[in-house]
Amino acid sequence: MRKIHKMGIVGFGYMGRFHLDKANKTDGLEVVAAFDTDKARIEEAERAGLKGCQTLEELLSIKEIEIVVIATPNDSHRDIAICALNAGKNVLCEKPAAMNLNETIEIVTAAKKNKRFFTVHHNRRWDRDFLSVKRLLEEGTIGEYTTINSGTLGQRGVCFGWRAEPEHGGGMLYDWAPHLIDQILQLYPDNKVTRLFCRKESILTPAVDDFFEIKMFLDNGVCANLTVGTFALQSVPRWFVYGDKGTYMLTGFSPDEGGLARIRKDVKGFESVHGKKNLGPSRTMAPLAPEQIENLPLIDVADYNMSYYENIFMSLEGKEEPNVSHRDVLRNMQLLDAAFESANKYQFIELDV
Ligand code: NAD
Repeated sequence: MRKIHKMGIVGFGYMGRFHLDKANKTDGLEVVAAFDTDKARIEEAERAGLKGCQTLEELLSIKEIEIVVIATPNDSHRDIAICALNAGKNVLCEKPAAMNLNETIEIVTAAKKNKRFFTVHHNRRWDRDFLSVKRLLEEGTIGEYTTINSGTLGQRGVCFGWRAEPEHGGGMLYDWAPHLIDQILQLYPDNKVTRLFCRKESILTPAVDDFFEIKMFLDNGVCANLTVGTFALQSVPRWFVYGDKGTYMLTGFSPDEGGLARIRKDVKGFESVHGKKNLGPSRTMAPLAPEQIENLPLIDVADYNMSYYENIFMSLEGKEEPNVSHRDVLRNMQLLDAAFESANKYQFIELDV
């Protein structure tokens, strides 16, 4: 029988309920209380069998709670995290950690001072589509590569609720860039980001960005192109990686749909297409003959989704460090700050992150 570590949730909305579900499915973790500024959400928490707290202080005064999960709008993360750490709790905070690097440093300082852990829910590093791309690149199947496209486009158009309000940290850069940046940093933990360019637009939600493109250059020669938009009625691949021997594409958030193709031998000049019909738009862009291409099965990976919470349990036991470290959190926020700076100045930002 494992010891049970008790948790409290601040912000009982979409992600608050997500954490309740995942934590309670983890042997050794149990959510016992929740606080939300919305009374209806407190009542919802009570119906889910939790103690509904009327204030943050009430939740923090519950001695048996060892860890506080923060699932509130982005502008409130810093204050709640620091209060919880000062009350002697460990903190698992939703992404982004805070609104900027300075706020994040304040939280990390409070964690160190109180000797408690602070970690962020960068959960998409366990997504199966990402793990599939990671395995492909590690195995070298498509040869040398310099370009990774990672993106997602939604159809709903507008951002809504607090996500449409700049004062609450709304917009797609705060919402999605932390995930996409974290995944790229996970591919190259020992490399540095040297340059970054970001363009953000407000296509249908005037107050915040609802579209962004980030170009992130690493010191190993890789350029990651990260794209998110909320309004596109046709889709782009979730992942597209160009190698000098092959190409990998995943259409969505699963490793089951897409394509992995490799060249069988070098393609020399135009001889292979000379004299053939249906050359396509030009000789340069003419398709190869089918026998020149080897189509391989997609890369299947196990679902490690629950390992995040297992690591939280082990961290509470003092047997592991949180998987998402202070370094991860600070680098992520430094790059997010650089993305905003780049978009506002419309300039490349030189970095050593
Ligand atoms: P939501 O609107 O569904 O829920 C937020 C809840 O917080 C609401 O119930 C609101 O009443 C409450 N709240 C607002 N201010 C508060 C405060 N000061 N104290 C206590 N409660 C407060 O939002 P959501 O989609 O659950 O997003 C919450 C956080 O989770 C955001 O930081 C967001 O970026 C993050 N998020 C992460 C993922 C992920 O995959 N990791 C997915 C979605 C959202």
